[in-house]
Amino acid sequence: VETTNAPPAQARERYEVLVEQIRAQREAYYQQDAPLVSDAEYDALFLELEQLEAAYPILAGQDSPTQEVGGEVSSAFSPVTHASRMYSLEDVFSLEELEAWLTRAETNATRLQPNTPVRWLCEVKIDGLALNLTYRDGKLVRAATRGDGTTGEDVTHNALTIADIPQQLEGSGWPAEFEVRGEVFIATQDFNAYNEQLIEQGKAPLANPRNAAAGSLRQKDPAQTAKRPLRMFVHGLGRSHDFDLTEQSQAYEIMRAWGLPVSPYGKVVGSLGEVMDFIKENGEKRHELIHDIDGIVIKVDDLATQEQLGYTSRVPRWAVAYKYPPEEVHTKLLDIQVQV
Ligand code: NAD
Repeated sequence: VETTNAPPAQARERYEVLVEQIRAQREAYYQQDAPLVSDAEYDALFLELEQLEAAYPILAGQDSPTQEVGGEVSSAFSPVTHASRMYSLEDVFSLEELEAWLTRAETNATRLQPNTPVRWLCEVKIDGLALNLTYRDGKLVRAATRGDGTTGEDVTHNALTIADIPQQLEGSGWPAEFEVRGEVFIATQDFNAYNEQLIEQGKAPLANPRNAAAGSLRQKDPAQTAKRPLRMFVHGLGRSHDFDLTEQSQAYEIMRAWGLPVSPYGKVVGSLGEVMDFIKENGEKRHELIHDIDGIVIKVDDLATQEQLGYTSRVPRWAVAYKYPPEEVHTKLLDIQVQV
């Protein structure tokens, strides 16, 4: 099949260029916390790469960026192997694509769990960076960035400076050990105030809240991290022992009672129409939320179904990210038109 669909030299060349550009952009974004291009530009190149690989599967190697969770581990931090792997998310860029994705996932889920009607956990996609927390007997023992998904960076000392992250869980009944993942971010108001402060001090303002959050969490000196207004909301579970759960939303309720920061913006719904309403509502009030979002994440709420649907090497098959179209915004601080 592949010989009949051998890529022309032009496609091969384009493929090489795309891989090289994406690698360089990832390095700047994940390692230096200083992107070379906008997210929309990066997403367009990534989509083009996926489409080339779909047209000419022979081009796609195991080391293709489409097969990897982007982000390596900087030598400035000790490496940490996550007890369970961390993933990226599959993106869709239109409501038609989203509907097709959800319909397919619903068919698969219903086949696997015929007696469990699919419930969708709708969340906003926080534009920050992922952090994996490990709690043992209710005590925070480790915090690590996502890295390449298997190995992350040990940022425990920095995480200890973030007030949202409990060092000791409240209540009782915690599992002997569990991993909880979430997003570290800087709230819009805090970002603006922090930047105004920098400008008053004659320093250069930070470019955007996402990179500011990533740069702040990945400081070598925790005292520097402590000066930045970092926050966190949890959005997933990793490995756990004796954590008896049936739904992800149920995990949030339990974790909320233990003092872990759960987003106020999530909602469980039972139909595609309600998923679409969630997207519309949050698109309209996206600038009223306390933090930047770059889309909506829709997850199958039932944990047994999640496990059965499983994962590719890069993403879960039980969740999808809908990305809002890029918008022109007027930044108050810099008073220029920028694309986000
Ligand atoms: P991603 O950021 O699109 O999605 C996966 C991540 O979303 C997860 O790891 C998690 O941390 C986060 N997330 C936020 N809210 C969540 C929620 N409610 N539930 C679950 N996860 C949630 O994937 P990625 O692979 O890290 O990065 C790709 C994206 O990063 C691109 O789409 C692009 O926008 C951006 N990027 C930009 C550049 C650039 O040069 N501008 C380079 C690389 C990546």
